[in-house]
Amino acid sequence: MSADEARSRRAVVAAMRRLEARGLNRGTAGNVSVRCGERMLITPTGLPPDRLRPELVVAMDLAADAPPEGPPRPSSEWRLHRDLLRARSDIGAVVHTHAPWCTVLACCHRPIPALHYMIAATGGPIVPLVPYATFGTAELSEAVVRTLGRHGLACLLANHGALAAGPDLARALWLAEEVEELARLYWASLQIGGPVLLPEAEIARVAERFRHYGPGGAREPDAGT
Ligand code: 13P
Ligand code: ZN
Repeated sequence: MSADEARSRRAVVAAMRRLEARGLNRGTAGNVSVRCGERMLITPTGLPPDRLRPELVVAMDLAADAPPEGPPRPSSEWRLHRDLLRARSDIGAVVHTHAPWCTVLACCHRPIPALHYMIAATGGPIVPLVPYATFGTAELSEAVVRTLGRHGLACLLANHGALAAGPDLARALWLAEEVEELARLYWASLQIGGPVLLPEAEIARVAERFRHYGPGGAREPDAGT
């Protein structure tokens, strides 16, 4: 196994533990994948983060139509992760959560509008809602790929949860937490009459400024925490 794969396996385990520690997932909810050459490394199905170990992370060819026999078996959402990584060369990692505020909105079929400028980090002026489809199905995978299109990096899954993606795992994790915060702000705003929304042109302007934001001149997530 390459040093790169070993590092990615450890990062996948750390990501699942962090998501649980920060309240974005509970028990066996959610899953994480990361691109590793022509394969993806994906969390095994039905295993809570405290039982997860790097050697239980499943490697699967992105070109494959079926997962390896196992055990361990890959996440029930392997199609969704595989299809997104296949469809979007700019995406290197996918984080799926049942984060509570996102899931509240997803259960009420409410996409997140442009209530705060940080929505620009999601690749568009809203966090769209993917219509309901049963977990683990090709139908859900197709709907997510269609909804994210060429630039989207986050969406809500109706009556299910949320999804965030990024060029690497640190960015995808960071975005998953940002989207949960946007969902919490939206929910709170709705309690006092609803937010005043920013126009789409402003979100495009913010996205442009993000390109030069941060110590290195480009937006960097706080990957170390
Ligand atoms: P897995 O344990 O199979 O990854 O399923 C969790 C989940 O969130 C399904 O949508
Ligand atoms: Zn799920």
